[in-house]
Amino acid sequence: MNGPFDLTGKVACVTGANSGIGRAVAEALAQAGADVALVARSGADETRATIAAMGRRVAVIGADLSSAEPAARIVEETVAFGGRIDILVNNAGTIRRADAVDFTEADWDAVMDVNLKSAFFLAQAAGRRMIAQGAGKIVNIASLLSFQGGIRVASYTASKSGLAGLTRLLACEWAGKGVNVNAIAPGYFVTNNTAALVADTARYEAILARIPAGRWGEPGQLGGAAVFLSSSAADYVHGVVLPVDGGWMAR
Ligand code: NAP
Repeated sequence: MNGPFDLTGKVACVTGANSGIGRAVAEALAQAGADVALVARSGADETRATIAAMGRRVAVIGADLSSAEPAARIVEETVAFGGRIDILVNNAGTIRRADAVDFTEADWDAVMDVNLKSAFFLAQAAGRRMIAQGAGKIVNIASLLSFQGGIRVASYTASKSGLAGLTRLLACEWAGKGVNVNAIAPGYFVTNNTAALVADTARYEAILARIPAGRWGEPGQLGGAAVFLSSSAADYVHGVVLPVDGGWMAR
């Protein structure tokens, strides 16, 4: 692969890489030429095997992102693996569903700690390296609830709206230092994260009816956007939250 989307020689770190969108993004970056450090609570065996079969270098870094404590270690282990860190994809995320009047502090903290706090401290740790290198790409996985309110997901909406703001803040601070910070806002994709929606036939159909493309997304359909924002093709792209949503936001 040649040209502005080529990631040959780049070293990427992808969180939540064992399943769903994180797995698809890690594989897309490897397909474009990157070596990839996979951050996962479990072994991420399938992602690792797929990337190794492409002939790329791949490592698994074990970490629980419910606290910010592993952030510095993850970046250090990525650099130990690849010699540098060129790309960070903050993908790990979780969700809790309850009516706002019943929402607990535990469900608030569980989501904010993974989706926002860890994402920030990982970006900080990676950003320090990238600023020293004079180059780097950070891609945050946001959500349509970075733009919209949603329902019964108070901490998720707060975290993803916060992540969009953080993307813009970091872009403003680091754009002049050669570091691009952007986000992808996936629409409705079939993954573990949306299993409760898919199982609720009425809700599934209601969502489907609003998607101009007429279908839910498959994780692999996010790969192109992740490669773009991780590549030199996006060198002058800073602080955007790019919907990949079958046209949902256009409606
Ligand atoms: P998923 O398959 O459930 O992936 C979530 C990933 O985050 C998993 O790898 C999970 O690891 C990891 N994770 C959660 N809590 C963690 C923790 N405490 N420490 C370390 N890793 C943790 O669902 P997904 O849809 O691919 O979600 C990926 C990202 O996309 C999330 O940020 C989500 O909010 C976002 N997103 C998804 C959709 C959609 O329609 N699916 C839409 C918008 C945004 P385990 O497997 O170990 O739990």
